[in-house]
Amino acid sequence: MKPKMILLMGGQGVGKGTHARTLVARDGYAYFETGAVLRALPPESNLGQIIARGELVPDAELFDVVASQIDGAGDIILDGFPRTLGQAQWIVQNYSDKFDIRVIYLNVPESVMLARIENRIREGGGRADDADAAIVRRRLDSFWKTTMPAIEWLRTAPGIRFSDIDVSADEFKDNFARVSAALSH
Ligand code: AMP
Repeated sequence: MKPKMILLMGGQGVGKGTHARTLVARDGYAYFETGAVLRALPPESNLGQIIARGELVPDAELFDVVASQIDGAGDIILDGFPRTLGQAQWIVQNYSDKFDIRVIYLNVPESVMLARIENRIREGGGRADDADAAIVRRRLDSFWKTTMPAIEWLRTAPGIRFSDIDVSADEFKDNFARVSAALSH
């Protein structure tokens, strides 16, 4: 049997990280959070400045680092990758023969994303790119403009399984139950 690869996708604040960590704790997947690795780069570096502006890092900068995390990993969850059509096509083309790829699209309206980002700020998440409303807006725009086409392509891409899951419930456990049910078949 091929190892599993779960691609957790969705806009800002939908709960990708919380779902990923809960699945990792329950099922023991390897976990790769692209954004955490990128946010740890020095702020004055070229990529650090791109991230601070709320823009996406160019695809070519990411492929080697993502490949190094995936190769030989066994069951793995990717959180925050892919985020562009090019990244989505790259992962399917290079990995659908080696992994059983499941895309979990955490689907919520933008109003819910905004409310959750505000919560994250109130609870002291400490993310520099959450604190500035203009940067939050830019990240949301890039989700709709750049990541949605990737999600739409993956919805019908051959050789993978795609689930569109409404995770707009207030209680995390209700949302997690839906994700968990989708992954069980
Ligand atoms: P996140 O924590 O997932 O919101 O990611 C923080 C920042 O890292 C994003 O705003 C982007 O600048 C960058 N980033 C994360 N994942 C990707 C990706 N798959 N492609 C391009 N840039 C990314």
